Amino acid sequence: MFESLKKKFKGTIGKISDDVASDEKLESSEAETDKSAEVSKKTEEISKDESVEKPVDQNLEESDNTDEAKKSGFMGFLRGNKSSEENISDNVTPDSELSETMEADSTTNSSDEVIEETDKDDKSGILSFVRNKTISEKDIEDTLFELEMSLLEGDVAMDVAETIIRSVKTDLVGQKIKRRSDVAEFTMIALKKAISDILDIEGRDLTALLENAKKTGEPLKIMFVGINGTGKTTTIAKISTYFMNKGYTPVIAASDTFRAGAIEQLTHHADKLNVKIIKHKKGADPAAVAYDAVAHARAKGKELVLVDTAGRMQTNVNLMDEMKKIQRVIKPDLIIYVGDALTGNDSVEQAEKFNDAVGIDGIILTKADADAKGGAALSIGYVIQKPILFLGVGQSYSDIIEFKPEWMVEQILGD
Ligand code: GDP
Ligand code: GDP
Repeated sequence: MFESLKKKFKGTIGKISDDVASDEKLESSEAETDKSAEVSKKTEEISKDESVEKPVDQNLEESDNTDEAKKSGFMGFLRGNKSSEENISDNVTPDSELSETMEADSTTNSSDEVIEETDKDDKSGILSFVRNKTISEKDIEDTLFELEMSLLEGDVAMDVAETIIRSVKTDLVGQKIKRRSDVAEFTMIALKKAISDILDIEGRDLTALLENAKKTGEPLKIMFVGINGTGKTTTIAKISTYFMNKGYTPVIAASDTFRAGAIEQLTHHADKLNVKIIKHKKGADPAAVAYDAVAHARAKGKELVLVDTAGRMQTNVNLMDEMKKIQRVIKPDLIIYVGDALTGNDSVEQAEKFNDAVGIDGIILTKADADAKGGAALSIGYVIQKPILFLGVGQSYSDIIEFKPEWMVEQILGD
């Protein structure tokens, strides 16, 4: 998941460091050596050594499907898996040798790893060229543009991408840095903060809601909306499983009476899970089915009613009227929009339509396991301003996880 964004971010952040690093070098008049010559010399040495990693750009081209690439992730270089130049240097000159070289001949070492080293070992006196630098708007303008493009290509909605970029820029400009790696670090912190802020919409704890409902003797009524094929019926089966594992007893209402096969499909899930399903014949009034399911739950002391609904095109007026009718009749405690992470911005638009018609309380994004871009997840909560409650992460009934903003940040930026 999110490999595409990680890949793009990785390149972009590397560039941020390089931009600022080159500024630093301009500022430092001491210890000037011909860095490009040095790097190319090192590259030559590297090419002789099969075991040495390739420069990052090349890695990116080839790494899509490798486990290594997944592990290295965005910002991997901050954790020791350094950017291309640093890789080169590290591989050619082990740390111990490096400090020896530095002590022996400090004036000829101006390459970036020395900047890193000086923190640990400033005996050599070459610290003098490492000055505080304040990040200016100009330092990062190109990079922010690239970052925004990456977000858009990753299916993040325009206004969400702009919000992230604004936030990152505000956080970065004016920061004082000592080492070039600080820029990458500060950028990662700023990105994390921006993403967390977007996703951190106060959610409702479904289990707490269930407990509250139980105290009043009423079942908790959840209505699921969303277009066909997004994984709505599978999600209802997953939510049933999730709450049965917590000791609750659900009942399912087959209120999609419109689509051929919908009742059968849901019945199949319910039978497998041994959950009671209330159904009428095809074409029946969906609100009546939901009503019956609530009556059943009340009569049998079941804690949870999960209502499936029809999901043709979200623009269909009949469909939206039908949703409103179910809502009027059973007064659900929660209306959950089920969206397919793979459909990107379409999913955001659909959510808006349902939100306008009936008001959504929360979101479940399915197929997050297969989402290569990750943008829908980031956009949808922001646009609808409703929390993502769960993520569907596979085809089996247990493949559902509670959504946490930190988890998403880790998916996008982590290893
Ligand atoms: P509905 O038409 O919205 O009820 O969609 P279904 O529940 O029938 O799901 C459509 C397809 O998506 C099925 O093949 C499901 O197994 C699959 N699916 C549902 N949720 C997920 C998920 O979280 N991950 C993956 N990989 N597939 C899913
Ligand atoms: P159209 O908009 O005139 O083409 O009609 P539809 O194909 O949308 O609907 C035809 C009939 O089916 C109408 O009597 C609708 O009330 C009913 N209907 C439409 N959509 C749904 C739905 O999603 N569920 C159910 N149960 N009935 C529907």
